[in-house]
Amino acid sequence: MPGTLYLVATPIGNLQDITLRALETLRTVDLIACEDTRHTRNLLNHFRISNKTVSYHEHNEQERAEEFVDRLIAGENIAIVSDAGTPGICDPGFRIVQRASEIGAAVVPIPGPVAFVNAVIASGIPSDSIFFGGFLPAKKGERRKKLEELRDIPATLVFYEAPHRLVKSLTDCLETLGNRPAAVAREITKLHEEFARGSLSDLVDHFSDAGVRGEAVIVIDRAEKQDIVLDSPATLIERVRQLEHEGNDHKTALKRAAKEFGLPKSEAYRVIESAKKQQEGK
Ligand code: SAM
Repeated sequence: MPGTLYLVATPIGNLQDITLRALETLRTVDLIACEDTRHTRNLLNHFRISNKTVSYHEHNEQERAEEFVDRLIAGENIAIVSDAGTPGICDPGFRIVQRASEIGAAVVPIPGPVAFVNAVIASGIPSDSIFFGGFLPAKKGERRKKLEELRDIPATLVFYEAPHRLVKSLTDCLETLGNRPAAVAREITKLHEEFARGSLSDLVDHFSDAGVRGEAVIVIDRAEKQDIVLDSPATLIERVRQLEHEGNDHKTALKRAAKEFGLPKSEAYRVIESAKKQQEGK
């Protein structure tokens, strides 16, 4: 009978957040597979655990998975840990889980810290429905395209972000999604833990001024549900103005307003132009 693959969550900052079950598992397995053995060794030393470690990461996950499969078949138990938090959440682990389940090994999660869940629960933004988007693309064009795709999802949007890209991503969120309520959770469970809350434009201002250090999670409220009825061209014009005021350029505002009113963009453009001409007495 194959051994068991344990997915062990470890702290995202404060070492006291490790669970009793995680410690017991890390002490008793035959092997601990970690992203960075030196990093995990510090954690293990802190808890006086001297178990065997081996590295696995994005680039060798496939071949390591085969080695781990052989060990599981031989009846060994293996624990997978990432540098911080829950393995498999924006960290490697998935391929190993897939292979282990293919050979009929038991896969057992040992629950614990995960950054995005803690960011959401402390954000003050509804947590009834959450879309976790992982990391947004690093390139501006791709990032904005991704955000456009997610704009109308009726759920709180959550993203991981590197500190040097936080302001750029918040700016793209503002310009693509509008000025929604949002929060940035930074350095959760660490000495300089911060929950910055406000509108997206408040957060852009705050982090442009304050600079950004440490790890961060962005939490954004869903789009307001609007029952918009096009009762006159003025309603459409007003909505375009409102969207521009929220940080959208004219083209984007027109496109979004058209969509909200269920009109083709060309028709929305025609309605606005003819209203303008009427006003000008042409
Ligand atoms: N596996 C981890 C988890 O369970 O959350 C996530 C690993 S991912 C490579 C790293 C990202 O997680 C960081 O860039 C940051 O967005 C987020 N993160 C991790 N620790 C954090 C912390 N203490 N405070 C805020 N964000 C954190």
